[in-house]
Amino acid sequence: MSYQHQYIDGTRIHFPVGKVVCIGRNYAEHAKELNNPVPTEPLLFIKPGSCVVALEGGFTIPADRGSVHYEAEIVVLIGKPLTTNPSREEVLDAITGFAPGLDLTLRDIQTRLKEKGLPWEICKSFDGAAVIAPFVSADAYSDLTDIGIRLSINGEVRQDGNSSSMLNPIVPMIQYMASQFSLQAGDIIMTGTPAGVGPFVAGDEIVLELTGISKFESSVR
Ligand code: ZN
Repeated sequence: MSYQHQYIDGTRIHFPVGKVVCIGRNYAEHAKELNNPVPTEPLLFIKPGSCVVALEGGFTIPADRGSVHYEAEIVVLIGKPLTTNPSREEVLDAITGFAPGLDLTLRDIQTRLKEKGLPWEICKSFDGAAVIAPFVSADAYSDLTDIGIRLSINGEVRQDGNSSSMLNPIVPMIQYMASQFSLQAGDIIMTGTPAGVGPFVAGDEIVLELTGISKFESSVR
């Protein structure tokens, strides 16, 4: 079944699934764990809408392309167009929902690409590389600098972060993104991963949550 954005109560969201705009190394502790420098300007990349799959009901990882790392991330759903230099108010008005998601990365392949200075698409944009839970409405949060994200695997907490630790907080990040690429209703933003990334193994049972707001169980096939 093809993916469609939906709210946590099962209501379909009537935006097409657009692109997925991502930021790398947005938490200093995560940049350090992969021996990456902390960037001086935001490191952006895009996953196509074709790689988005639903978290619920389980999801499949590639079996034969080296390690597949999880990156738990706060995901923002855009509900109105944003173009160059939007104001803070325009960004807040365009944010329609929040969900936890997984930016899946073929880490062995990415390491080789990074060494050669090559683009990342084959390690970041494969089918199934963006795993997205249902959204809560944007009004679930009054303070976007205090959003918790947590991933547990087989009963053990592996990632436990908060947007308060982001190098580029959500609103300025989206202002910057919209100045690089127009954002459309149905686009989603993956806001970077906190420390604790590692490989998934088929059979892993996971719990992914926006801490205190929404919580989902799933499994890796
Ligand atoms: Zn990521």
